[in-house]
Amino acid sequence: MRIKSFHVERVSLADKDPNWRISGFAIPTNDACIFTLTAEDGTIGEGYAAAFAHLGATQSGTYEVLEKIGKLLAGKDAFAIEANMGLARRSIRQNNPAKGAVDCALHDLAARLMKIPLYQLHGGKTRAKVPLLRILSIKSPDQMRDKARELIDQGYRYLKLKVEGRPREDAERVRAVRNAVGDDIFISVDPNMGFRTKGAIEFARRVEDCSISMMEQPLIDTDIAGLEAVTRAVELPIEADETAASVEQVMDLVANRRVDAINLKIPRSGGILNIITMARMCDIAGLGCRLGANVGSRLLAAHALHVASALPNMDFACELAEFERLQNDPYEGIEVQDGELVVPDEIGTGVRRRK
Ligand SMILES: [Mg+2]
Repeated sequence: MRIKSFHVERVSLADKDPNWRISGFAIPTNDACIFTLTAEDGTIGEGYAAAFAHLGATQSGTYEVLEKIGKLLAGKDAFAIEANMGLARRSIRQNNPAKGAVDCALHDLAARLMKIPLYQLHGGKTRAKVPLLRILSIKSPDQMRDKARELIDQGYRYLKLKVEGRPREDAERVRAVRNAVGDDIFISVDPNMGFRTKGAIEFARRVEDCSISMMEQPLIDTDIAGLEAVTRAVELPIEADETAASVEQVMDLVANRRVDAINLKIPRSGGILNIITMARMCDIAGLGCRLGANVGSRLLAAHALHVASALPNMDFACELAEFERLQNDPYEGIEVQDGELVVPDEIGTGVRRRK
């Protein structure tokens, strides 16, 4: 079976909260491209390229990269995922969100041609439901406390607080939320590179009594020595996110135990093949890993959900419900129930275009 054609489409999903922000970035709209491959028999496979500035991608640049790769794939064997991804990787450097979408579309197409759910292609299901973590924008402590209560009332048990890199103010945010939600809720924090080494250590000490599960990427992605110094200095587990931008970088982080855990994202890693490689490395070395914020449509969340279902070593909640805060999602088919997503048993991703 050959790939007959491809299609690229721009989409923009506005956040319900126009003031949603992380350290250094406001993200009022999630721009993306949907990449569709069609086989000779009319079967389609779909992938979602989240064009985030902090992943080095723009929507127009991502569109052009997907057009370039799509032309290379037309006429190729629809089942040759490794060979086709090799072509995509060699055709252009960087733009992992685009390559991630190509990888997803190839997997989806193969699964649909075989008439199996995607997780079967990833090695089979190790869990039928995936617990979800919801992410809170940087706000005042009172606003974050109120949002946390709202999410807990909806059934979520895991929260991640975006913080901005100010030890005292950020500790107030954490304390306000912890006091409001009680001891049974998992809380992690994400400064998105907002701290420097000493500030990250000071912050971790200020929240020592707040029972925090994890701190993500405290320092700028290039400060590997600092990241390692923070990991060694504090008891709070440290997870690499922005620094874990390629298989090569993850290999270095894991081999040298520079962090305690790795955050895996389809758009940042360049696809499912790379995610599975990264997760395997973490498993061998005894480091934690899980699927982080795959922010965008249910199409992207569904792809990440099938991977999270198949990988045996997901040891923390995954961040696959951020579609809940976005408007105009063109896909439907998965919905959160009691803070979890059920892995679909339908053919392919299990999501479809809204009518
Ligand atoms: Mg992060």
